[in-house]
Amino acid sequence: MVSRVIPVDPFDLVIFGGTGDLAQRKILPALFRRFCAGQWADGVQIIGAARTKHDGATFRQVVAESLKTHASVQCKDAAALAAFLHCVDYVALDDGSDEGWSTLAAKLQPDRVRAFYFSVGPRLFGSLAERIQSHDLATEQTRIVVEKPFGHDLDSAKVLNATLAAHFREKQIYRIDHYLGKETVQNLMAVRFGNMLFEPLWNSQYVDHIQITVAESVGIDGREEYYERAGAMRDMMQNHLMQLLCLIAMEPPAKFDPDAVRDEKLKVIRALDPVEPHHIVRGQFEGGGPSYRQIVGNPRSTTESYVALRAHVSNWRWAGTPFYLRTGKRLVARSSVINVMFKDAPHSIFGEQAGRHANVLSIRLQPNEGITLKVTIKEPGQGGMRLVDVPLDMSFAEALGPENQEPPDAYERLVMDVIRGNQTLFMRGDEVEAAWAWTDPIIAGWQSRGDVPKPYESGSTGPGDAELLMKRDGRRWQGINP
Ligand code: NAD
Repeated sequence: MVSRVIPVDPFDLVIFGGTGDLAQRKILPALFRRFCAGQWADGVQIIGAARTKHDGATFRQVVAESLKTHASVQCKDAAALAAFLHCVDYVALDDGSDEGWSTLAAKLQPDRVRAFYFSVGPRLFGSLAERIQSHDLATEQTRIVVEKPFGHDLDSAKVLNATLAAHFREKQIYRIDHYLGKETVQNLMAVRFGNMLFEPLWNSQYVDHIQITVAESVGIDGREEYYERAGAMRDMMQNHLMQLLCLIAMEPPAKFDPDAVRDEKLKVIRALDPVEPHHIVRGQFEGGGPSYRQIVGNPRSTTESYVALRAHVSNWRWAGTPFYLRTGKRLVARSSVINVMFKDAPHSIFGEQAGRHANVLSIRLQPNEGITLKVTIKEPGQGGMRLVDVPLDMSFAEALGPENQEPPDAYERLVMDVIRGNQTLFMRGDEVEAAWAWTDPIIAGWQSRGDVPKPYESGSTGPGDAELLMKRDGRRWQGINP
């Protein structure tokens, strides 16, 4: 199976914060990989813009070094690297001054897609948007891309939305949640809405519960200041896990169109019940290495590096089917997976000794993106009717063939969707606000109760109370496997 590339017309992409970590580690390597895949031919301009006083040649050297690390396979082709760097340019500018902006204006081409990627902290969004307008850089074909965190709570998200809305229409604003760019996430929609097999079973009659796990083995190194203010609830739950929940729980949209999909996701968020305090477990890593508190240098920190909760989507389809969500740092493995746990067969014709068996559909986001369906079969050979569960495994690496072992990075898909003008995999302003409206009372409850996270060992699966959260309901978490 060979992936097909649909070329895009020449475009101008300005990356504010072009010298920063995200631009160097993710955005520029993603663009380089698309270039190598033949996504565009000539004439594209990728302009880094940041405060450092680089010239174009110095910036290209910086980019070349990053690509050697973050797109090492493609970098082996020296001609491709040189051709890509030929598209790359740089302008030194600051959001707080007019210097540099006319240089940027002179470089931009009229009558083509023009994207401004705000790869900077959210406090710069307003001033950058204002400068884009005051220097007359926004055209009909202009789009802006903003990164998470989109606000710290509902009020700040509303302010950010209003700030952007003062300068751009919603159709021009691309709020990135890179989880939505993952191949498996799109596949989740294909599996649900492209097959007859699952959708009739996709409800509380057949699904016992759903588990969504986003486990990270890394800690918070290098992001201490931000993380101490955010915690797992704001950093992961409000956005990535919420988006995954939406895609699992949403009704089939009438068509695969940005607003149709996002309308359905929004309905899910609005159908979420408030979470009861006894249905949430917060944790903070402690033993097995430097503790969270040591790392952030705050011996009394109550920021959670782990959160698990039980959510309910109160609608016809999901009434009575809980969604268990968990995410944390310094866990046993890096593993993001959605497990749809089907109910046991209502009656076993094979007798008690055959045991209880339930189908599980596992959608793995990382690592080893793919989908597995656990089905029950007869154990082969002699010995009577013994049942065994086997996985029907659809690994994308295998399905795509040896030339496409690595599924495209989420940023590859998302940056190209910006250029193509497809907002399906981007969050709309009202979605983000609804997610904060659900999250805020949870955090406010912790604050008013003086809640302290439960300690857990680095390298474990999280605090013991998270196991109890399940056990109380007669269920248990699936393993966190690399
Ligand atoms: P960074 O600190 O590494 O880079 C910030 C960039 O912004 C630098 O290029 C800097 O020169 C530029 N900059 C700072 N102030 C400026 C100003 N006044 N005018 C013009 N340019 C200015 O940050 P980062 O890690 O690249 O993150 C950028 C944004 O993306 C942040 O909002 C972050 O939360 C978000 N984000 C980052 C990651 C990641 O993996 N790094 C992941 C998700 C979201």
